[in-house]
Amino acid sequence: MKILVLNSGSSSLKFQVIEVRITESGECDAQYLVKGLVESIGSYSQLTFNVSGQPKVRQSQSLKDHQAAIDHVMRWLISPAAKIDGIQSYADIEAVGHRVVHGGERFAKSILVDDDVKSGIEDCMELAPLHNPANLKGIEAVTALLGSAVPQVAVFDTAFHSTLSEQAYLYGLPYQYYRRYKIRRYGFHGNSHRYIAYKHRKINQIPRESVNIISLHLGNGCSACSIQAGKSVDTSMGFTPLDGLVMGTRSGDVDASILHYLHLKEGFSFDDVDNLLNKRSGLLGISGLTSDMRELIDEAEECNDRRAKLAIDIFCRNVRKYIAAYYVEVAGNVDAIVFTGGIGENSAEIRRRICEPLSALGLDIDLAENKLGLKSVDYRVISTQESKLQAYVVPTDEEFIIAVDTIRRVEGIE
Ligand code: ADP
Repeated sequence: MKILVLNSGSSSLKFQVIEVRITESGECDAQYLVKGLVESIGSYSQLTFNVSGQPKVRQSQSLKDHQAAIDHVMRWLISPAAKIDGIQSYADIEAVGHRVVHGGERFAKSILVDDDVKSGIEDCMELAPLHNPANLKGIEAVTALLGSAVPQVAVFDTAFHSTLSEQAYLYGLPYQYYRRYKIRRYGFHGNSHRYIAYKHRKINQIPRESVNIISLHLGNGCSACSIQAGKSVDTSMGFTPLDGLVMGTRSGDVDASILHYLHLKEGFSFDDVDNLLNKRSGLLGISGLTSDMRELIDEAEECNDRRAKLAIDIFCRNVRKYIAAYYVEVAGNVDAIVFTGGIGENSAEIRRRICEPLSALGLDIDLAENKLGLKSVDYRVISTQESKLQAYVVPTDEEFIIAVDTIRRVEGIE
């Protein structure tokens, strides 16, 4: 089945066409045909198309909204210039899978989109005002283009964390606000953590029930997830993706009283505070330089920049605190920690800094393997053979999870 996977951000669109097949043993075999990205939707947009086995194609084009972006992408996909195996017309797209950021408490699983599901996604808009509207626009744009006969599946970032216990998802706030407004931890990056759990199971050839790991998605957004018996039991992002680890521009955990204090001292409004915590904090805020980890490492190494070093130290310390807390909470029943995301996959230096002090938990990092990282392999063990706690680097693949759920829902497989 050829599946179009769409990830609509507030002003961007990531897409892939993936050919997916369910094997006789029930496993999913996936092959990507094309991947691409549209940036700056709403103004002069930049597009990148990457067809399997061909050089990248870049374009610039004025695209006023998501409908226009999806229209343009789809027309390009079927054009003779694209030369994509097996894609000549819209009829070749057999289903569409959408990443939807927030599924609230209602959507614990991926689901075929109908009017009721669309209104459910709309109900969650208040919880993810930047993302869910764009996700819904993506669904509407596909319907306008392909018609309602082509099945569409919504795959939620929050769904993997629907297994959190009340103890893990409730904040220390009066219970009535949970009852009234569903204020609780939801967790995000669910498709990434779920992929990591899946890949761990495949690498080690173990059943899902034996997957006991801590997954660390470290990119611009960062989150940790404690996975027991293949299920998420705790995660660092919360009611929104602001909570938890220090990120590129997001603060992660802060004492909420600071917000009131800043209001008194600087006259900050709620919008100002929101902007401060989401856009001007984290690595960028601490260093005063950049949110980009690669640049920070360069600044720290080449210029000995004190605040660049400080930002890196705080980032790594924070990740370790979560690892240690999750490790203790499950009484040490952790076989491995797994690094993924732009930083987790690419930075041997950050992995080393996080891992070395974890000798306290029985982790013995193999510095040579860590340095090699993902060079010429699709995953790597970066702990020594003697290490009690293992460490891995695994590239994430959220689109694979979206494609798998799409074929399963379309074919009615649970
Ligand atoms: P997003 O969360 O937006 O998907 P990514 O997962 O692509 O982001 O991660 C982006 C982050 O990964 C940036 O901070 C970038 O500097 C960092 N990164 C990418 N490559 C490296 C590298 N070789 N060393 C250190 N950091 C890196």
